[in-house]
Amino acid sequence: MQIQENIPLRQYNTFGIEVCAKYFAGFSDADELAWLTEQAGRDEVIVLGGGSNVLFTQNINGWVWKNNIMGIEELGEDHSFVYVKAGAGENWHRFVQYAISRNWAGLENLSLIPGNVGAAPMQNIGAYGVELKEVFNSLEAFHLREKKIHTFTAGDCNFGYRESVFKKELKGQYVILNVNFCLRKQPVFHTAYGAIQQELDKMNINSLSIHAVSQAVINIRSSKLPDPSVTGNAGSFFKNPLVSKEQYAGLKEKYPSIVGYENADGMVKLAAGWLIEHSGPAEAVSWKGYRKGAAGVHAKQALVLVNYGGATGSEIYDLSEQVLESVQAKFGVTLEREVNIY
Ligand code: FAD
Ligand code: NAP
Repeated sequence: MQIQENIPLRQYNTFGIEVCAKYFAGFSDADELAWLTEQAGRDEVIVLGGGSNVLFTQNINGWVWKNNIMGIEELGEDHSFVYVKAGAGENWHRFVQYAISRNWAGLENLSLIPGNVGAAPMQNIGAYGVELKEVFNSLEAFHLREKKIHTFTAGDCNFGYRESVFKKELKGQYVILNVNFCLRKQPVFHTAYGAIQQELDKMNINSLSIHAVSQAVINIRSSKLPDPSVTGNAGSFFKNPLVSKEQYAGLKEKYPSIVGYENADGMVKLAAGWLIEHSGPAEAVSWKGYRKGAAGVHAKQALVLVNYGGATGSEIYDLSEQVLESVQAKFGVTLEREVNIY
């Protein structure tokens, strides 16, 4: 195994931020990971998958470990489900396509999400009305201090809205090695969300299939979201905030076009993109399409902050702070960052 020193991280994060890691190494199994923990001692360690949900604001004065654990294995099946294990280093969308090609259902709405399998449980990735937790069975993770592998069930992971125990209580303690999924033999379609049905109509789909739903999601995402290989970004920078029904009613009275969805707990999830679009810096009415130097707010989706090339992580972070403050000042709603800041 090779340990590299002073490695630029630009190609390892989809924001394209130019910082360096003092030490950099990739690992392909738990033994290599255990060996790396010996080398690192008590130094700072950041484990990276595809780098599509991180913002680096400074050089990393410790280690960056790239998770390269590969492999997809069919573990078994019962009447309703196929049980499949995927290595944390597998690319997420390739795994989704693999499942679709075998007619295993449940992942189609999660098509084209960047990043790797191992990071998917970190924030219980979600899109178009489906979350990872709906297809999750268990995972194995390596405890960095104990140097032992633990198994986590869905209950142990404490999945929430773009949250899990690994992003909160156990932050930085575990490295996810592999994830076990339960995928349906008979699909349950989720097409009511957002523009999916419209896109399926446009595609002239008469007989619904998981392949068609996946393609619809791919079409919508490709038309709306910036491609990180062209414009640096990490997807939604903020989470959609939850407010009480009373607060929502007050906001709705004042701003009739505000977008909110009531959830099962009786709270209302506000579309953060709407809040950002309808607030702005002193010199403009909206943040949408705003640009200062190389840092900006995407012109088609205000929830996405972008690096037009050469922005520093601090510039992106400062912009996020200004957005946060202006949304707070105008609507009295506090946005929370979804992206992991280092
Ligand atoms: P990284 O960015 O590498 O890591 C993210 C965090 O997880 C870091 O804190 C890292 O230390 C930790 N981590 C990574 N791997 C491991 C591991 N094996 N063990 C322990 N910790 C680990 N997210 C959604 O939920 N839904 C979307 O629809 C969505 N769309 C996106 C669209 C675009 C264009 C982009 C750029 C991002 C989008 N995202 C979305 C965010 C992101 O793609 C996901 O959160 C993805 O799961 C991150 O995977 P990654 O491998 O790139 O993680
Ligand atoms: P959109 O369809 O324009 O919708 C805007 C917001 O409204 C979304 O954030 C979504 O919340 C919410 N929403 C829409 N229809 C809903 C419904 N029927 N019920 C409940 N909530 C609803 O959003 P978009 O930006 O194009 O993104 C489409 C999907 O991809 C969303 O699910 C979004 O989360 C996901 N996505 C995530 C990221 C990321 O980095 N996390 C990046 C890009 C896209 P939810 O976000 O809760 O779904």
